[in-house]
Amino acid sequence: MKRIIYIPFDHLHRNYGALKDANPKEDVIAFVESARMITGRAWHKERLFFLISSARHFAKSLEDEGFTVEYIKAPTTIDGLDEINKKYKKLPIVCAEPSSFRAFNDLKTHGVTFIDNDFFLTPRALFNQWASEQKSYLMENFYRKQRTRLNILMEGKDPVGGAWNFDKENRLPPPKKYDGPKYLEHTRDEIDKQVAKELGHTPTTTWATTRKGALAQLKNFIDNHFADFGPLEDAMTTDNWALHHSLLSPYLNNGLLHPTELIHAAMKAFKTGKVPIESAEGFIRQVIGWREYVNGMYWFLGADYRNNNQLSATGPLLPLFRDPSTTKMNCMKQTVSDINDRAWVHHIPRLMLLSNLALITGTNPQEFLDWMREVFIDASEWVMVPNVIGMGVHADGGQMMTKPYAAGGAYISRMSNYCKGCAYNPKLRVGDDACPFTTLYWDFLDRHKEAFAKNHRMSQQVFGLKRLSDLPELKQRAQELLEGLQKGTI
Ligand code: SF4
Repeated sequence: MKRIIYIPFDHLHRNYGALKDANPKEDVIAFVESARMITGRAWHKERLFFLISSARHFAKSLEDEGFTVEYIKAPTTIDGLDEINKKYKKLPIVCAEPSSFRAFNDLKTHGVTFIDNDFFLTPRALFNQWASEQKSYLMENFYRKQRTRLNILMEGKDPVGGAWNFDKENRLPPPKKYDGPKYLEHTRDEIDKQVAKELGHTPTTTWATTRKGALAQLKNFIDNHFADFGPLEDAMTTDNWALHHSLLSPYLNNGLLHPTELIHAAMKAFKTGKVPIESAEGFIRQVIGWREYVNGMYWFLGADYRNNNQLSATGPLLPLFRDPSTTKMNCMKQTVSDINDRAWVHHIPRLMLLSNLALITGTNPQEFLDWMREVFIDASEWVMVPNVIGMGVHADGGQMMTKPYAAGGAYISRMSNYCKGCAYNPKLRVGDDACPFTTLYWDFLDRHKEAFAKNHRMSQQVFGLKRLSDLPELKQRAQELLEGLQKGTI
């Protein structure tokens, strides 16, 4: 044997990372299931189940291929690698660059040799070069450059369909009573059952834990959902928990699928003429634009970026995030219950409900970030740090986004059917029936009006404060709401 190849739980692909040139006669494959990974935080058990069972299935597939696989449990990853090192004395350890600063430093200190991380389409050096040439890091600019560089949805120098984005077409509210095609259910095998037993968890049938299952999920999306994905991608409804979202991010983020595979499948379907450009573009944007941009920004902005708190938000995490029975806000009750059920909701509830509420209530960004990391099935550190600190709660002073994503109840009312069954009224900003989002949105603007008035993208919103004749009453209601949300009475 010549080397030990260490496979983190988010590098589960045979053709990428350190495995792409691996040879069963020369390489020992190492997996470490660390106790810190399992008990270090209040992780959602569905998330742990998915990550661990996927890794064990993947390890088994390598064994079946003839590899010597060391899959061990240890207090930490480094303890585990030490143990494997003792068994295979003098063999060097190789790994594709890990996906977080902490893993990078721990493994480097341990003497692990890195090869390039090719689980993304954009090498880190290339992204750094782009970012260092920008005045502001607009995702849209990066995305257009990606489309051109990768030659996806392009006709020469021009975008297919005559436009770079179809955001206007892709903002439809949910139709009345919506029951789209069913999503796949995944049966559980012996490995799954063993992991579930060890975790004391009853898993859903929502998430696949094998490459085969992940490919089936991709096929199901392309065949049954892709064409309708775009127009309804921002809608939220109690009738249908996923609408036409792909549900592929967990597999992209743990390596069971590679972005290239999604792009090939999507472009093949688009070329049949059955998928409209707004759906094709909306999906491609997520895969080659947003996902790559967020990963690039994570590394570009550095390890300290996650500690930003430029709006000096010090409130503790609201109880409703951990227990939806502590709120009467229908949108939040639904969303947190959905997360409890399957560790997933799509990007709009994440941004416009969860993050928006944390933002306008002045919740401490790091407490909120920790919670987001713990509860979502696809919540890698590199995903959540820029998405929460930069986009969600604007804690970076606008380094990533030019303005905060703060919104009142009117947006939620337009894009969902949540308000119909709610104790509150999205149109009211004062009084006992006032929607907490609406009241707290104005209160948030008022609290930060001096800072925001200097931002030309916010000045109009701040100017709107002047038209509020009931501001003193609103401020008092906001105080009641902030206290009530902490007590679990709102
Ligand atoms: Fe949410 Fe306000 Fe609508 Fe209730 S009224 S569902 S709190 S946005």
